[in-house]
Amino acid sequence: CGIIGILGNHEVSPQLVEALKRLEYRGYDSAGVATVDADGKLSRRRAVGKLVNLSDRLVHEPLAGHAGIGHTRWATHGAATEANAHPHKRGPVAVVHNGIIENFRELRDEVIALGMTPESETDTETVALLTAWHMSQGLGPVQAARETLARLHGAFALAFLFEGEGNLMIAARKGSPLAVGTGDGEMFIGSDAVALAPFTDRITYLEDGDHAVITRAGAEIFDAEGLPANREIQQIDVGA
Ligand code: GLU
Repeated sequence: CGIIGILGNHEVSPQLVEALKRLEYRGYDSAGVATVDADGKLSRRRAVGKLVNLSDRLVHEPLAGHAGIGHTRWATHGAATEANAHPHKRGPVAVVHNGIIENFRELRDEVIALGMTPESETDTETVALLTAWHMSQGLGPVQAARETLARLHGAFALAFLFEGEGNLMIAARKGSPLAVGTGDGEMFIGSDAVALAPFTDRITYLEDGDHAVITRAGAEIFDAEGLPANREIQQIDVGA
């Protein structure tokens, strides 16, 4: 029920958890984070229940990396278990998602027919599976995510992170809010600006159907037609 993403210049795990705390008010039943470390390795940690369960786990099984995504889940498809918690990961792709992918059954059948085996009961995992499949067919991460996004029906906010890509994050929204934050050589995404308040007050709100290709140099935003879109950076007062 909350999404955070950071391309930063520091260890992101504690920052992701701090930002997720600021989204606790939205309610959640489990939480998780994924990072890309200095070697490009994509890893995740997830925990059912309170965020403190996730931060405890991160003490015992730390996740290094300056790039990461995080999620608090309010289950809609599949029980509140660790296997159903986000990020969902397949091969080189990790995904966090708010909302519902309405046509996930069709997509799930499709990826199963392609020889992939889902490991969760969520609608979200199909997004990771489909994107991983496109990458296995030779597409780069941006193109693979775009192919997947074009297939999704429903109301959602999504963030993607990729193995070997410590300077790339893709965000997309349709019906659920998503804000992009601009820092100094750092970039952020969040379900709302309040989550980003510790990091930046320079916020760009994605419009419906937008997706953003984000590196530390900034966010390139594209509209529902896939055309480059100009979205204003607003200086906002969120009372950090
Ligand atoms: N539909 C997804 C799930 O059940 C995302 C729920 C959410 O918005 O947290 O895993």
